Amino acid sequence: MPTHIVVPPQSGRSFRVSQGDLIRVVDPKGQQVADLWAFSTEGRLDWLSTSQTRDIGERLFPAVGESFYSTSGAPILTLVADDSPGPHDMLYPACNNALYERAGFHGHPNCQDNLHKALALEGITLPFTPDPVDLFQNSLPQPDGRLDVHASINPPGGSVTLRAERDLLLVVTACSVDYYVTNGGICTEIEVEITTGAR
Ligand SMILES: [Zn+2]
Repeated sequence: MPTHIVVPPQSGRSFRVSQGDLIRVVDPKGQQVADLWAFSTEGRLDWLSTSQTRDIGERLFPAVGESFYSTSGAPILTLVADDSPGPHDMLYPACNNALYERAGFHGHPNCQDNLHKALALEGITLPFTPDPVDLFQNSLPQPDGRLDVHASINPPGGSVTLRAERDLLLVVTACSVDYYVTNGGICTEIEVEITTGAR
């Protein structure tokens, strides 16, 4: 039976996986963006780099069968299945307090704080925030170069499945944007299923 983790609305969760494990990130109610981070904590700290992934893969987002890469240029996760219509984003940072302040909301939950709270529970303090993989986020660049975030088109139950290429600490947040269309105007939970891989 897979391990099942619920990430409640506007929050984040951390969990450890082993090399070969399959991680399915599910959007049960639809239109909910999930931010994903991956860290390798054995030896020198390394983490999923969206810019290295764009450079090495020569795409805005990996195709099924392709990998996400770390800051050191090594494969860290592989996209093994995409059971969603997409699109996904790898250009935007996590939503943070400053974003909500600019929109006039004070003390609003945000993915950046939720990442650091989840890492703190693992005893990890980072003086910076790596850019996340924004699953189910509908913000493809426009032909004229503009970047707009539209409502996610992910249907209820839409999911992606990833394979861990190393032992990893993962953090998933259910994005907190509720004043704009990003998450369909309402924030819902994300679920994660972990299936142990062949050892
Ligand atoms: Zn967010």
